[in-house]
Amino acid sequence: MSRPRRDPRAERAVSLVAGEGSRPRYDRTRRATGSGRPRRDPRAEREAQRIGGLARARYDLSQRGRSVGEAVTTPPRAAPAAEAPKTLVVEAPAFLVAVVPDAPGGRLSGHDRQVIGAARALAGREGAVAVIVEGACEGLGAAGADRMLRLEPAEGYDPAARAARIEAALADLGARHVLFPESLDGGDLARRVAVGLGEALFTNAEAVAAKGLVRPARGRRVEQSLTPPRLATVAPDAVADYAGPPREARALPFEGSAPPPPAKSILSATRIPADPATVPLSLAEFVVSAGNGLSDLDTFRHVVSALHATPGASRVLCDAGLMPRHAQVGASGTVLAATCYFALGISGAPQHLQGVAGCEHVVAVNTDLHAAMIERAGLAVVQDAQTVMPALLRLLAEEAAEATAREPAGEGTAP
Ligand SMILES: Cc1cc2nc3c(=O)[nH]c(=O)nc-3n(C[C@H](O)[C@H](O)[C@H](O)COP(=O)(O)OP(=O)(O)OC[C@H]3O[C@@H](n4cnc5c(N)ncnc54)[C@H](O)[C@@H]3O)c2cc1C
Repeated sequence: MSRPRRDPRAERAVSLVAGEGSRPRYDRTRRATGSGRPRRDPRAEREAQRIGGLARARYDLSQRGRSVGEAVTTPPRAAPAAEAPKTLVVEAPAFLVAVVPDAPGGRLSGHDRQVIGAARALAGREGAVAVIVEGACEGLGAAGADRMLRLEPAEGYDPAARAARIEAALADLGARHVLFPESLDGGDLARRVAVGLGEALFTNAEAVAAKGLVRPARGRRVEQSLTPPRLATVAPDAVADYAGPPREARALPFEGSAPPPPAKSILSATRIPADPATVPLSLAEFVVSAGNGLSDLDTFRHVVSALHATPGASRVLCDAGLMPRHAQVGASGTVLAATCYFALGISGAPQHLQGVAGCEHVVAVNTDLHAAMIERAGLAVVQDAQTVMPALLRLLAEEAAEATAREPAGEGTAP
């Protein structure tokens, strides 16, 4: 695709030798010039690699002695600018399908993207998917959102007040269907909204299509299906993400009025952060793992705690008793659902990679550029793990010192 189109007639005309009898004659040595690619001469290249002064022919196969300088130094043709995928716009949707994602930290979780994928299945061509977020949220268009209704984030953690805000937003949108993730927060919110609106909620849908939603019941012995209800929650890992071209995610104005704060039946609700070191691997958000290429396990433990991550390991280390068995990542260990996986000195055997298939971001440190783990990683450091770990600790310490220096006097952390 990137090569210019050849014109064999023009090339032939260039090599025509003028004025030599009645029959056209061609100078065949000039034929290659028209194609735009320099013609290689393998014999001349080989000769240029020959090391002189030796009885037996010996060749320097390194790039230094190459005679194909022209070919190597030929400026690469500019790659055609990659065409940006066209953004799909639904100008006047027949109806809206609303999604209320968890969006922890202003980013869609994997489960959120699946729910938007389910909403797209319900919306079809005529409908539009409207995502209701509190505060900023990135990647909505790519996830399949046509509209975005942004509410002001609330102070503190009050589930009842959040449900009241979402109810007001839904009244403003007038959506035909509303989907929530069946997660800890999303499931709770969906039930509160259903009670607030006095409507039925179809929970834990595992199949979502325009003609109906399906969920398992009675210990998975039966399936219940329903024509798409107004309120539903979608089970994790049951529906595929949206895989089409990016959508517009046009911001909608919130025209409703802010609801009055609900009477406080919950006196206090606080999020207690779990200790990442003791969180089960299957629930961990950020896992740092050690493999056979890592020899300094003490520094590894410091890195894990400095990054506030959960420790993991490859099977080799667990078999050797260097890491506990429950830390094993992989097909015969734990399959992760982490947002980020950081692999130190792990080759990336298929059984190990099965365990990290669901991780959103993978960072790998390995001395072998061709290790499968490096190929799987979004960010790879080809370096000795024993060198990277102290450097990382130094950077983290510098960052922590800078953050402490920036804090106003008197607000330092208690000893
Ligand atoms: C039935 C079965 C089930 C299995 N299940 C699992 C499983 O669940 N989980 C699992 O992990 N394995 C599993 N395995 C084992 C798996 O096949 C691999 O043997 C194992 O994952 C390899 O571990 P590793 O990458 O740590 O070690 P190695 O394969 O020895 O790789 C070490 C890596 O470290 C790199 N390295 C070396 N020195 C350095 C350095 N100084 N700095 C940085 N990098 C360095 C090397 O380039 C290499 O890529 C299973 C195997 C079988 C047969």
